[in-house]
Amino acid sequence: MEINQIILRQIKMDLLHPFTTSVGTEEDKDIILVEVKSKSGLSGWGESVSITRPIYNEETVQTNWHMMNDHLIPLLYREPLSHPDEVSERFKEIRGNYNAKAAIEGAIWDLYAKEQNISLAKALGGVKDKIPVGVSVGIQESEAKMLKQIEGYLNQGYKRVKVKIRPGWDIEILKMIRQEYPTIQLMADANCAYTLRDTDRLKALDEFGLTMIEQPLDHDDIIDHSKLQAELSTPICLDESIKGVEDARKAIELGSCKIINLKVGRVGGLTESKKIHELCVKHDIPMWCGGMLEAGIGRAHNIAITSLSNFIYPGDTAPSSHYWKQDIIKPEVQMKDGYISVPESPGIGYEPDLKRIEELTLLSRTY
Ligand code: MG
Repeated sequence: MEINQIILRQIKMDLLHPFTTSVGTEEDKDIILVEVKSKSGLSGWGESVSITRPIYNEETVQTNWHMMNDHLIPLLYREPLSHPDEVSERFKEIRGNYNAKAAIEGAIWDLYAKEQNISLAKALGGVKDKIPVGVSVGIQESEAKMLKQIEGYLNQGYKRVKVKIRPGWDIEILKMIRQEYPTIQLMADANCAYTLRDTDRLKALDEFGLTMIEQPLDHDDIIDHSKLQAELSTPICLDESIKGVEDARKAIELGSCKIINLKVGRVGGLTESKKIHELCVKHDIPMWCGGMLEAGIGRAHNIAITSLSNFIYPGDTAPSSHYWKQDIIKPEVQMKDGYISVPESPGIGYEPDLKRIEELTLLSRTY
């Protein structure tokens, strides 16, 4: 793979609807796009999932820009690459900064797949031609508003509903949803809003037949989750705590979770994602793909990784129109009967809309 140019662009996009979790509300999104050009004239694209404040993990758009500019891109240019699997190995000397690493590595994977003339899904070992889609419902001003939203989403065909919870917006809410919809695939995401002192409160959720409860305890905890899982019949799914295959191994060994939410950006890229997938297959731990309010390029990467066999549960990979008035790819990501087709064309399978990207660009830098 001969890279002869890298372009970083920071764009800003307005979300169609504000999205509230236990840690805050997002109304728009600043996004770093990575374009890696080869001597053959092909371009690979990646997208960082970081937001402007360090409330999901410690990274931000600004720290990503710094890491990419001052550390990661110089490492990439140090010597030629023959395969995208080498990128994460090369980035290993830089601690953490997984979102920044994943965005660059994702662009190299897209470029590699295009050079091989195969889809990114195929390059990663994907086996599915379509993936089931779930929807994530943020915390709302009122219960009535939330029920109305859920009704709309179910009518659109979503295969599973995930609601964001926090202490006080949990038991009553889930009870209400269950009364209305006794059989839907329902789960709750706490985004770290509880501690072991809330064990009784969390045990009370067992009666709602949730597919899983996601990340109830601290963002870097694995040990307390194992104590909690022993008390709950609802499977715990870990999100924030799993930053790589070693965290996954420890969580599985300790019994801290029964399901893993994979986010490519959180674990440093697609190569690490493949390793986690392999480990989870070995231990019979089902997975699904989480979302970080991605624009089209990040969304396309999520679709490709979700095509691997062990992504059992529907992911947070809703179509473009769920988030944006106009996405940055053509065609936009579309859902039919609750499924998204996995593209077969080379690379991510969606064309970046350069005109749209240009309109949204706040700053850019070329190497
Ligand atoms: Mg989550």
